Amino acid sequence: MDEVLNSQKTALDTRHQKMLIDGKWVDSASGETFEVCSPANLSTIATVPRGRDEDVRSAVSAAERAFPGWSRTAPRQRGRILQQIADKLELHVEEIAKILASESGNALRTQARPEALMVVDVFRYFGGLGSELKGETIPLGENILSYTRREPIGVVGAIIPWNAPTILAALKIAPALCAGNTMVLKTAEDAPLAVLKLAEICSGFLPDGVLNVLTGYGTEAGSALSADPRIRKMSFTGSTATGKVIMREAANRIVPVSLELGGKSPSIVFPDVNEDWAVEGISNAMRFTRQSQSCTAGSRLFLHEDIFDSFLEKLEANVSQLVIGDPLDETSDIGAIINEKQYNKVCGFIEDGLNNTDAKLVFGGMPPTEGLLSEGYFTMPTVFAKKDNKWRLSAEEIFGPVLVAIPWKDEDEVIRMANDSHYGLAAYVWSHDIGRALRTAHAVEAGWVQVNQGLGQAMGHSYGGTKQSGIGREFSLQGMLDSFTQTKNVTVNLMTNRDY
Ligand code: ADP
Repeated sequence: MDEVLNSQKTALDTRHQKMLIDGKWVDSASGETFEVCSPANLSTIATVPRGRDEDVRSAVSAAERAFPGWSRTAPRQRGRILQQIADKLELHVEEIAKILASESGNALRTQARPEALMVVDVFRYFGGLGSELKGETIPLGENILSYTRREPIGVVGAIIPWNAPTILAALKIAPALCAGNTMVLKTAEDAPLAVLKLAEICSGFLPDGVLNVLTGYGTEAGSALSADPRIRKMSFTGSTATGKVIMREAANRIVPVSLELGGKSPSIVFPDVNEDWAVEGISNAMRFTRQSQSCTAGSRLFLHEDIFDSFLEKLEANVSQLVIGDPLDETSDIGAIINEKQYNKVCGFIEDGLNNTDAKLVFGGMPPTEGLLSEGYFTMPTVFAKKDNKWRLSAEEIFGPVLVAIPWKDEDEVIRMANDSHYGLAAYVWSHDIGRALRTAHAVEAGWVQVNQGLGQAMGHSYGGTKQSGIGREFSLQGMLDSFTQTKNVTVNLMTNRDY
């Protein structure tokens, strides 16, 4: 594995950032701050306000005040504003990408720049959907007019994680605002800076209070937001454990929730596949170039026993081409793990794999302890082979580049193993026989199955999980309607008193 780390430490100067409440850039009420660090070299990039209850209350009040005006703005006008934001964002893609790479550790070329570009796409897509907030008419007879309206819900609370912060923020902001809601969004403590830049661009076009963006810790600002009685809808992306906390809080007030949570997604490879071609897709599906810090990572690789050894050899040859290094270096394919806690967690899983006598290390292993890569939270793509699906490494979401390969010979057996998980987010099926591939796609318990590809989400498809991977869909018109509107029925008797 090549090592590339250059002297360019970060794209940013160390500086103090503020958060956005009611159209103004403010410090936390307490004046407290915390540091945001580069996972590639552990230097401090910036300090941000440590928002708490009082800041959440101010932000929710601002969003509440802004709601009547924004919800009554014509939907196409709201959409036009989102499109203007998209145009402005497009001019700042490079800046946002560099901030993202610095704070998240995601490599600029393979991850951060494509993420920033997609944020533009998200705003443009939802900006075009203002006219689609349509209701229906119900045919109850000539003298009755019964119709539905898609109305905004109110103040939406949004909480996002650090792994793709600007995309995940955009996927909440754009559809919620298009539908006429206002929002208070809490950024992730490890990667708030690019989202603050996104907020700055949005605030140049939006009325004060329509979008408020807070920085702070989950157990402080996050829990205060999810508990605020004026929040009428919670939209959360993060771990399944925190998703359960958010859902319990919402249950107290019967508030709807959208949850996009974890995954342990299977890749099922049939023996008729073109191996040389499929290894590339398997590596993509595992999201090795984003350190596998992705909920959709295809982290359980079910290989038919006839191709088990040959496929893993080819996979090793393919993955060993990837360059690990400074996220800001254009030649790096793979960057760094977000923080020390995640890094130690990933190392713990690798250690477990190495200590398991039934498992075989195919390639990778513990991270380097010397050299430039030891200066940050860099890990190596690692693959273990084990005969069965029954161990911690194939049950728990690692959120790091540790893939487990499991052999199979019978179609029913592999589907049973693939579905033996409390997660159900994504799945990948690889076969030349399209009938068999689609049969398998239909049998797998997942919200999103890809056949013969391992790509990321695209605008327009309804993305989300089944089982403990979540509730609700994002990326689509359907997702916007289901998550950010409520239906009101109006039934009118067209016979007036005079008609009798
Ligand atoms: P991760 O382990 O990937 O950071 P989390 O689910 O802990 O995933 O974090 C995702 C987001 O949820 C972050 O913005 C975090 O601050 C927030 N969060 C964590 N705990 C809570 C909580 N108890 N209530 C509300 N938000 C929380």
